[in-house]
Amino acid sequence: MHLISTRDSLGTPNTYCETLLTGLAPDGGLFIPSEYPQVSQGELESLKNSPYTNIAFQIKKKLISGDIDDVTLKDLVENAYTQEKFPNSVDGNITPVRKIDKNLYIQNLSLGPTAAFKDMAMQQLGQEMNYELTKRGENLTILGATSGDTGSAAEAAMKGLDAITLFMLSPQIGMSDFQKAQMGNLSGDNIFNISVDGCFDDCQDMVKDLKNSPEFSHLGAVNSINWGRISSQVPYYFSGYLQTVDEVGEEIDVCVPSGNFGNVLSAYIAKKMGLPIRRLIIATNENDVLHKVFSTGVYEITPSSITSSPSMDISKASNYERLVFDLLGRDGAKTEKYMQEFADKKTVDLADYGVSVEDLKSQGFISGSSSHADRLSMIEWVYEVSKTIIDPHTADSIKVSLELRDPNIKTICMETALPVKFEDTIEKALGFIPERPAIFESLEAQNNEKAFQKMGTDREQLKNFIEDNS
Ligand SMILES: *Cc1c(COP(=O)(O)O)cnc(C)c1O
Repeated sequence: MHLISTRDSLGTPNTYCETLLTGLAPDGGLFIPSEYPQVSQGELESLKNSPYTNIAFQIKKKLISGDIDDVTLKDLVENAYTQEKFPNSVDGNITPVRKIDKNLYIQNLSLGPTAAFKDMAMQQLGQEMNYELTKRGENLTILGATSGDTGSAAEAAMKGLDAITLFMLSPQIGMSDFQKAQMGNLSGDNIFNISVDGCFDDCQDMVKDLKNSPEFSHLGAVNSINWGRISSQVPYYFSGYLQTVDEVGEEIDVCVPSGNFGNVLSAYIAKKMGLPIRRLIIATNENDVLHKVFSTGVYEITPSSITSSPSMDISKASNYERLVFDLLGRDGAKTEKYMQEFADKKTVDLADYGVSVEDLKSQGFISGSSSHADRLSMIEWVYEVSKTIIDPHTADSIKVSLELRDPNIKTICMETALPVKFEDTIEKALGFIPERPAIFESLEAQNNEKAFQKMGTDREQLKNFIEDNS
């Protein structure tokens, strides 16, 4: 197994570690395995009751296909998922599953340092990137933009890694005080926070412009199109499955609150590897680009609006191209044509490429969307039936799973953030704010105004700042 681009099925083969540092394939496609490695029922059984680090090691080993030796990979996994970084893990279980109602379960993916599921992939990515760079004797400057969760998760993962310097742009307006404080507290050493006088799109445009200029073309990326991130999300589906079933082989459904299609794509890959997942339920909020694709076959850019589950406020879903590649028979030229039509017309219909909504269903996919009012009532309902407080993104997934699930089959909903990150919405739903885990107790109390370098949208100023500090 090696990695190929979704736009070049003839395949210039790439190894896992090569793709880690580049992000996008040179032809503009996304990296994907030439074939999906398989996990047998016997192997699955042997992983039951295994610690998370062992499951992660065994599954990543298959996806890395020998490109990092076993001893090193084991070390990297153990450094990524330590008790110190996951202090709220339950008996060493980093992604615990709990039952909230008959055949309805929640898997908590947000026990990491920044309380969002992005920690799961980012922690492992940081370790792997640093390993590869050290091996090569190179350093990497990473430039990213964030509207919230990605920034702090990347910073927490890259903090103190010798081979990496990270510059993160964030908009002066739009982020919550909690998110700003999280990032501010991570400033220093190899982490530089830049607060841009503009919105998230301005930040993203600045990143794009810099990467397009020759002297900065070597800048690294940590966004979710990086194959290292997607592959690091596959193991927790194995862990969740093994915690939930009575017997290995039993089929279950999963429901995933989705934005850029990274998390649910990892579930799809787990299914392709042989994990008995029956249906992949996609939950969106009011920004329902993905719900539209999976219910009509039409993929259409829609301007996004700000909602109370803000980490899913997207206008297109970057990782969806990886599924398109499979849907179009792994034909790179056809995938490129499809993506080009989308870029040109802002809309493209799978039916014109010979794929029906029935075909999507036969791959396991179904979808639904939810509203602000749904989120509030789901937060209330889950609290009522299980005394558990869930965050608004998880609430989207509960709403859609209740609507679409088969009550005779177990469904696991992915919890992608802790409620502490979204106190305002929880207060609206429940009338009180959730108790804070100890690590976040006095987060906003530290004055970190000076932790942010303030800047306009001037590209030259940004270039100079990066040059002076890396
Ligand atoms: C990023 C994020 C999502 C969306 O995940 P995708 O992989 O982009 O689909 C959902 N919930 C939370 C809390 C997030 O931070």
